Amino acid sequence: MNQYDVTVIGSGPGGYVAAIRCAQLGLKTALIEKYPTLGGTCLNVGCIPSKALLDSSEHYHNAHSVFAEHGIGLDNLTVDMNRMIDRKAGVVKANVDGISYLMKKNKIDVLTGVGSFVDKTHISIAPTEGGEAQTIETKNVIIATGSKPTVLPFIAQDKERIITSTEALNIREVPRHMVVIGGGVIGLEMASIYARLGAKVSVVEFMDSLIPTMDRGLGKELKRVLGKIGIEFFMSHKVTGATRAGDSVTVTATNPKGEEVTFEGDYCLVAVGRAPYTAALNLEAAGIEMEERGRIKVDAHLQTNVPGIYAIGDVIRGAMLAHKAEEEGMFVAETIVGQKPHINYLLIPGVVYTWPEVAGVGYTEEQLKEQGKAYKVGSFPFKASGRARASGDTDGFVKVLADKVTDEILGVHMIGPRIADLIAEAVTAMEFRASAEDVARMSHAHPTYAEAMKEACLATTENRAIHM
Ligand code: FAD
Repeated sequence: MNQYDVTVIGSGPGGYVAAIRCAQLGLKTALIEKYPTLGGTCLNVGCIPSKALLDSSEHYHNAHSVFAEHGIGLDNLTVDMNRMIDRKAGVVKANVDGISYLMKKNKIDVLTGVGSFVDKTHISIAPTEGGEAQTIETKNVIIATGSKPTVLPFIAQDKERIITSTEALNIREVPRHMVVIGGGVIGLEMASIYARLGAKVSVVEFMDSLIPTMDRGLGKELKRVLGKIGIEFFMSHKVTGATRAGDSVTVTATNPKGEEVTFEGDYCLVAVGRAPYTAALNLEAAGIEMEERGRIKVDAHLQTNVPGIYAIGDVIRGAMLAHKAEEEGMFVAETIVGQKPHINYLLIPGVVYTWPEVAGVGYTEEQLKEQGKAYKVGSFPFKASGRARASGDTDGFVKVLADKVTDEILGVHMIGPRIADLIAEAVTAMEFRASAEDVARMSHAHPTYAEAMKEACLATTENRAIHM
């Protein structure tokens, strides 16, 4: 029987990063993955393919609707969905092949099949294609089995017309009318892709604001801007059903007045969140405790109630984000060898890859109000940025929240061009506990979108932004 220091179950960004860090630290490591390709949700059906399609659809949208204002004329613009989806598949392949290469480079044994606990120190791997299961012995286990789309019990998803994000990444036609249930990150990214390609898109959301876990100001501005590309929003609507007849779907909902409304479309995307995935793990055999919402319970060291068994990523509490899973993968590997790593969960940024992009880190204004914290606000709109005017991306703003007494930055919330990258400046500043004044006095290259961060920090004290 093969023996390992560490066995990682699941090869998403949590699992593969944990495996690499374990190997770097000299631990004999196995990585179990039930699918033939590595990389988990993120690389196969999440972050990477969605960004590939967001980029492709943005090119089309710009050629269709933006080029003309730059004086560029184009005739006979077409969309070849087969080519777009094939390109996306190529991008995914390059990434998942890259993970296989990294496993070989780090001498990690990749075992393909469904992993399940035999007991605390033995894991059985059942080949997905059938055949005999093998069992390995391990000193430590890292569970990184991720999540799956949440299903609404009253909606039968046929995965052809009533679909999840996984199928939405593979539609080989431009939908006539896509009804998106859920105005969260995944719903809005998918809505953007298909609205840019010319589909009618209706987003039906239960809450009264989009991306409700982020600073409220961001959702408000995002709704306004996405409205400009034709996405229609139906807020405070409770979906009650979705049915398919042939190539049509009908979604029913109750509007804020309590009336029943219907949406007729050809696709219905159910994007109401994701749930931790632990099926087939046989956690009972190891005596591992769960907590609410199907999550595995872990302590501050990400260790379960069973010594030597850890869990990371979407399968435990916290934001369901690839970079959060990665941090936890590194953290557990280093904990196993006796190091004292640290994760600052407050500084894990959240990003939405719509256009304009949306990002936030630290406390939201709502959280600061709830805490009764004395804070000040500095904001700067992209319409006052020379760089944004040059590119024509003048929607959005940067908002900095700082401690009223010490000036320490407590939160940064942005919507605007390329701010998925710009948020890193805010994370760095906050990790070093910078004051708004520290950033206000740093030189930012001109002209850049990043100047909006400096200007917002200048505005935080005595409202002294220069360019507005
Ligand atoms: P996962 O990536 O879910 O990987 C878990 C792996 O475990 C899977 O490969 C699964 O097959 C395997 N597995 C499960 N059970 C077993 C078993 N018993 N035996 C063997 N293998 C098993 N996050 C971001 O940060 N940025 C984004 O832009 C972003 N975009 C997204 C877009 C979409 C459409 C979706 C759906 C998600 C997106 N996410 C994004 C979220 C991100 O994908 C997840 O947070 C991340 O993948 C979680 O990583 P993980 O390692 O915990 O699990």
